[in-house]
Amino acid sequence: MLISVAVPVPNLDLLTYSVPPEVSSPVVGSRVVVPLGSRVVTGIVIEVGPAGTAPLGAEIKPVRQVLDNEAFVPPEVVALAQWTAEYYAAGVGDTIPALLPPMARGMRADAHKTMRVAAITAAGLEALGARGSISSPRAERNSARPEPVEGRALTAKQCDALELLAGTPTGIATPMLVSRGIGADTLARLAKHGYVSVRRDRLDRDPFEASEAPHSGSHSTPHSSPHSCDARDKWRQLTGEQTAAFERLRAVADRKEFRVALLHGVTGSGKTEIYLRLTAAVRDAGRRVLMLVPEIALTPALATLVRDAFGDRVAIQHSGLSDGERHDQWQRIRRGDVDVVVGTRSAVFAPLDCVGLIVVDEEHDASYKQEEIPRYNGRDVAIVRGQRAGALVVLGSATPSMETYHHAMSGKYDRVVLERRVLDRPLASVSVIDMREEYAADGPDVILSRMLRGAIQTRLDRREQSLILLNRRGYATAVFCRQCAGTLECPNCSVSLVIHGEGHARRARCHYCNYTARVPAACPRCAGPYLDQTGFGTERVEAEVKKACPAARVARLDRDSIRRKGALGSLLSRFRAGEIDVLVGTQMIAKGHDFPRVTLVGVVSADVGLGIADFRASERTFQLLTQVAGRAGRGDQPGEAIIQTLFPEHYSVQLACRQDYPGFYERELRFRKAMRYPPIVSLVNTIVRARTFTAAMDDAADVVQKVRDADDGQLRVLGPAPAPIGRLRGEYRAQLLIKGTNRKRIREALKAALAARPELQRRVVVDVDPLSVL
Ligand code: ADP
Ligand code: ZN
Repeated sequence: MLISVAVPVPNLDLLTYSVPPEVSSPVVGSRVVVPLGSRVVTGIVIEVGPAGTAPLGAEIKPVRQVLDNEAFVPPEVVALAQWTAEYYAAGVGDTIPALLPPMARGMRADAHKTMRVAAITAAGLEALGARGSISSPRAERNSARPEPVEGRALTAKQCDALELLAGTPTGIATPMLVSRGIGADTLARLAKHGYVSVRRDRLDRDPFEASEAPHSGSHSTPHSSPHSCDARDKWRQLTGEQTAAFERLRAVADRKEFRVALLHGVTGSGKTEIYLRLTAAVRDAGRRVLMLVPEIALTPALATLVRDAFGDRVAIQHSGLSDGERHDQWQRIRRGDVDVVVGTRSAVFAPLDCVGLIVVDEEHDASYKQEEIPRYNGRDVAIVRGQRAGALVVLGSATPSMETYHHAMSGKYDRVVLERRVLDRPLASVSVIDMREEYAADGPDVILSRMLRGAIQTRLDRREQSLILLNRRGYATAVFCRQCAGTLECPNCSVSLVIHGEGHARRARCHYCNYTARVPAACPRCAGPYLDQTGFGTERVEAEVKKACPAARVARLDRDSIRRKGALGSLLSRFRAGEIDVLVGTQMIAKGHDFPRVTLVGVVSADVGLGIADFRASERTFQLLTQVAGRAGRGDQPGEAIIQTLFPEHYSVQLACRQDYPGFYERELRFRKAMRYPPIVSLVNTIVRARTFTAAMDDAADVVQKVRDADDGQLRVLGPAPAPIGRLRGEYRAQLLIKGTNRKRIREALKAALAARPELQRRVVVDVDPLSVL
């Protein structure tokens, strides 16, 4: 008997092995231990039959061991992985990390230790649900944290802890909590109230442990009690628009056939409520639900709501989970103990069966795209999964991707619209500030316009909150020499170094390879002493807000400020608790947050993204501006957005101000049509890396030629050209873009071209449906 096996080794095709008669026969989805060269690795049986090639061209070797008699990975998920590998031009083995629970490498040392694990109790969930009324009275302006109120009130820290624990029904090990800033004292106090229970657990997390292997026969169907629809006592009265949208979607779900629907609802229109109702309806009809979200850590609210509504038959996957916890979740899903999975992109491969609904929240979000092999888009894999499961796929967004809207317009997807915010709340009123006028009035160094400074001050006076967006990290964007006009560049990458910190703490850093250096006193090129810095990032904006409003409590949210574990959660909960007045940040502050006391959104330099040599620059700018403006006025007070720009007439800026999505789509589609970019054509970006510029360009030229040779006149190949970031981490990069109407043809031509140069494989990055072509 021969089998085809995927092994977790980059870029390998399926390998063929024989199954000796004394070994029990595996099935698709079983794990097998196989020899590979001089090593032994664990792979997954993809096909029973000789579809693969013999390992490394040698004779067919026998498998060493078959770990499962039944599928470990469900066959539907194996097939989905195969599709993903094929479509995104990767090896099937490249998808294995997404298919299996974490291998728990490095966990083995701990294998028999015990550890204290804290889990939230029903009382804790209740307290967390009620916290709105407990922690919302605004803390005294000058005290650093809210005073604990008498009785069973929660401090911000305790809220944090409960929120985190609510996301992980199985509990979280105490060292993990400590690393997220939640110490033994906090836990002890919560345990005293009965909000958490603490137990001792054996750390026993080997995913290959036989006793953990699921039995497919034991799969239960989703429970309709005790957490059925009416178990959620907090169901809101839906607005008329929400009701109509829900009823339409439910009717589609009831058909139990594959269908994709775009839920196009403006910011604050109450999409979450619709996801929850649909989930309840699908669950009550006996099917399961997969809910994908961009980043759970950044916007934990949805996950918490799902937990509240569906109790412990929910698995939530977020980046704070340890390998062990992930493994447990995976096993719970696989056993059928879970009806609803909420997770980030890799959750699309969750071993959930009977899927009747897949929700992709904020479907336009770039974090659905994995920027390493396999370069899949979780949204698109979700659609394929839904197709095979006969499920309804709901793509939700206020700013759909061009691709999704295109399909909605052509009728390929249903389009369900929420045009208004709930409770007749108005959208934020938007003003555009032409910064050229500010420079004329206040000089060329001005960063916050007069109007924005005044608006921040007004919010302080009214005890409301502000969000200030600048999508660029650091203090200054470059250092340049007044004498030779040179700028300080990264030695490894063709980009300028960014200045972080002020005064003595000043460092120059590369945002691509993390190279850091002291800022030199003299120009490294001409030795001139007149080095100056230019441009500004979030650190500088934070400093400017503090300078303009000394009484304001200002904090910053960007990748630098949340390096420390737990920093993100504590920053968000401090903002929610009203301990921060102004939050300055990158696009992270524009994600789906729902902070009711934010009434002002300021955008400093709306045009940061427009200068980028990428065909999606306008789309991304429009989405970012619309989304961030959508963070204002979500409570009782109306919101205002102030957008500063040097290009007030740019259509992305103009149409975002009017929150005119259809207008933007139409305008952008004209550009995509003229330039032949997606969604008009399919695009594959290919980067060839080499040690020298010439080698990169020569090899890319060779690939271009071979693709043209393999093509019968259907494709358009652009390049070779130096990539927009021509050098990265010491390697030169040349680029070719392939456009065509048939993706399969593109992949095949490329495959043929690369087959002729196997030694090139490791230096070539193929990106199918790229989100960015830098
Ligand atoms: P979106 O995701 O569409 O931007 P959300 O789902 O976050 O919007 O909802 C916006 C706000 O409106 C949230 O605070 C939510 O709790 C509230 N909300 C949603 N539906 C209703 C409703 N029917 N009645 C009252 N408030 C609602
Ligand atoms: Zn660099």
